[in-house]
Amino acid sequence: MGDQLSTELDHENHLLLDQPLLRLPFELLRKTLRSARFEIEKDGALITNTLKETATSSVNGRSSKEDVLKSLDTMIARMRGTKRKLIAFADEEDRLHQQEEARVQHLADLYAMYSVDDVKYEGWSRTRLDRLLVDYLLRQGYNDSARALAEERGIERLVDVETFEQMSRIRKSLLNGSVAEALAWCTAGETKKELRKMDSNLEFMLRYQQYIEIVRNRSQTKPNEALAHARRYLFPYRDAYPREVLQACGMLAIPPGTAPTIAAYADLYSPARWAMLAELFTTTHNTLLQLPSKPLLHVALSAGLSALKTPACHSTRPDSLAAPPSHATSLTLSTNVCPICSTELNELARGVPYANHSTSHVEPDLLMLPSSRAYGRARLDEYARKAGLLDGQVKDLRSGEIYGRDTLKKVYIT
Ligand SMILES: [Zn+2]
Repeated sequence: MGDQLSTELDHENHLLLDQPLLRLPFELLRKTLRSARFEIEKDGALITNTLKETATSSVNGRSSKEDVLKSLDTMIARMRGTKRKLIAFADEEDRLHQQEEARVQHLADLYAMYSVDDVKYEGWSRTRLDRLLVDYLLRQGYNDSARALAEERGIERLVDVETFEQMSRIRKSLLNGSVAEALAWCTAGETKKELRKMDSNLEFMLRYQQYIEIVRNRSQTKPNEALAHARRYLFPYRDAYPREVLQACGMLAIPPGTAPTIAAYADLYSPARWAMLAELFTTTHNTLLQLPSKPLLHVALSAGLSALKTPACHSTRPDSLAAPPSHATSLTLSTNVCPICSTELNELARGVPYANHSTSHVEPDLLMLPSSRAYGRARLDEYARKAGLLDGQVKDLRSGEIYGRDTLKKVYIT
C-alpha cells in the first residue's frame, strides 16, 4: 500500500514478496546441476574401474575375447544410460532457464513504469494477483484449478506448478499410508546430503514409520524383518533419537491390540502419524527449496489489512453488526466507511498489527467543531468561502452543519 499522496512507484517495496519468484528456479537449477554431477561421478567411476579390470585381465590373458567384448558392451550400455539421464537433466535446465527469463522480464516490466497511474500498471498488478492466487491454489492442493488459471492467463512460466504438483503427489501418498515416494525423494542424488546438512529428521521418521508398519503386521512378515530394519536404519541413530529408538525396541513387546492402554505406544500405532509425516515432508521440502512456509496471498492480505487498520477499528466495535462504523480512515475520508470495520474484514484483521505510517496524514492547524470532528483551518476556510457563508461561520464538511468560529477549539497533537 503506497502513500496516498504520492503515485510514484516504489519498485523495491513492490518486490518484497517476490523473492521466491526468482529464487525457486535458481534453487532448482542448483539441484539439477548437483544431481547431474552425482550421476556423472557415479557412472564415471564405475566405467573407469570396469575398463581397468577388463584391460588388465585381457593383457594377462585371464579373460577370453568374448568376455572382453561382453564387458565392453556392458560399458556402452551403461554410458547410454548416463546419456539418457543427462538429456533429462538438460531438458529440465532448459525449462528452468525459460522460466527465469520470463520472470526477469516480468520484473523488468515493473521497472519500466514509474507511476501507479501508468496504464500498464493495472495489468501488471493483475498478473501479480493471478500469480498469488495460483500459488495459493497449489499450496491448498487444487492443482487442476491452479493449472487452468495459469493457462488462461498465460502465466505458466511465472508460477511453480510442477514443483508443487510433485510435492502434493508425495504428500498424498503419505496421507494414503505409503512412505516409498517420500523416501525416494529424500534419498535421490544429492538431496540426502542436503537434508543431512539441514539436520532434517525426515528420512529417520520415514524409516521409523516403515518399522512401525513391519511390527504392526508382524504375523504376516518374516520374524526377523523388524530387527533387521531396526539394525540398519534406526540403531545407528540412537544418539540423535534416543527416545524413538527405545520405543522401537519396546514396541516388539506391545502388539497393536494391547497398545491402547499405554498412551506412548497408542500414539505410535495411531493413523494420525501419517498426517504428521505429510506435514513434516511439506515443511522439509519448502525449507530445502527456500520456499516461504505460508502462501504469499496470506502475507499480502495481512499486509493490506495492517495498512488500513487503526486502533479504533476494534476498540469501538459495536455489539450490533448493523451499527455503522464510528470512524473513518484517511483513505476513506470521503465515504466514511472503514473497510476494516466491515463485517467481512473485521475478524480477519483482529490479529494483524497496525501499520507503521511514516508519513502523517493529519492536516496542519487543526480545529475541532462542536460535533467533535476536526479539520485543518485552511480547508474550513476554503469550504466556508465556497459555500458562501457569512464571516465568522464554518461548515462541517461531512454533516453540512454550520457553526460559529467562536465555538471552534484548537487541537494539539501530542
Ligand atoms: Zn475501522
